[in-house]
Amino acid sequence: MATIKPIEGRSVHQIQSGQVIVDLISVCKELVENSIDAGATSVEVRFKNNGLDSIEVQDNGSGISPEDYETIALKHYTSKLSTYGDLCSLQTFGFRGEALSSLCALSKFHIITARASDGAKGTKLEFEQSGGLKGTSVVAAKQGTTVVVETLFHNLPVRRKELEKNVKREYNKVLELLQAYACIRTGVRFNVSNQVAKGKKIVAFSTNANPSTKDNLANVFGAKALLALIPLNLQFEMDPSHRPGATQSARNWTTQEDGSQAVKILGHISRPVVGEGRGLPDRQMFFVNSRPCHLPQVRKAFNEVYKSYNMSQSPFVFANLQLDTNAYDVNVSPDKRTIMLHDQAALLESLRDALAELFEGHDQSVPQAQLL
Ligand code: ADP
Ligand code: MG
Repeated sequence: MATIKPIEGRSVHQIQSGQVIVDLISVCKELVENSIDAGATSVEVRFKNNGLDSIEVQDNGSGISPEDYETIALKHYTSKLSTYGDLCSLQTFGFRGEALSSLCALSKFHIITARASDGAKGTKLEFEQSGGLKGTSVVAAKQGTTVVVETLFHNLPVRRKELEKNVKREYNKVLELLQAYACIRTGVRFNVSNQVAKGKKIVAFSTNANPSTKDNLANVFGAKALLALIPLNLQFEMDPSHRPGATQSARNWTTQEDGSQAVKILGHISRPVVGEGRGLPDRQMFFVNSRPCHLPQVRKAFNEVYKSYNMSQSPFVFANLQLDTNAYDVNVSPDKRTIMLHDQAALLESLRDALAELFEGHDQSVPQAQLL
């Protein structure tokens, strides 16, 4: 008798979903990105019991068309990408069409959505575990979409236990990630709240729909924090094709006529003054074209150069790398937070020089109080 046989469809779905939605952070990340992709200017995230009971993300974006109700939570159905080639020119966060489908498999899940043309009438969508549409009903709703995720991992007992055990720590990490989105997104209002005990709702943080990242940082970290920061505005040309050992892919992402690549890094960083940084949260946020990312080597370069000017501390960093979309690959990890930079070595070298120049030009002897 043959021993190799296909895994039953439902189980495959559950196994694969567990790779997209691995924790509280992935849920919130996927839902907030969907809201931003839908053009929202207001995103509200409501946790109950740190997310253990429920996570709700409400936006005022485009809403979902009735023609999409049937397929919206099916695996690999997306409105954002249809061929692999589209990946390079991608402007949206999402592209795999896996998040909603995975949430159906791993939580009790529903959506309420309304478009501008729907008046005050919205539609509640309920789904099978497989992602198929189970039913719709009419409810009162404003334009936009609310996604409700209840009892995450209710059908994966080991993961549920793990989540219960670590929920405080996960919740704090979620807040950091949500703060990163709230700070980088200008023109979008964020409000994040948590209801722990019955009736007690605490606002974790909020931003107004500010025109600048500086105003967003002030909303999240307090206006005082800004006094300890200087603007980060680095611009340099790098020439990956002329470096020994440059890879073919590095040569392919050159965009200027002379073969060099323009890089801009915009944001805010602690003043390089000894003792500065007290009163600032110990935070470093990196983005590639406004997408929050893990960039361990870039982080290391910032820390090392900063420390050579300020012996005592690591800087507060809020840095948005503006790169040509051909210069990196986001399709590396399921959460898309790990990014592959095609010629990281050249970038790091130019970055170190540019940072040294920035700190060099800054008068390190003047304490912040005297600058006011
Ligand atoms: P992806 O974001 O990769 O396309 P998702 O599973 O996250 O995949 O979402 C599937 C589709 O559902 C999206 O392509 C989008 O069309 C729609 N969608 C999801 N969330 C929202 C939202 N908040 N507002 C409007 N449409 C949404
Ligand atoms: Mg998505």
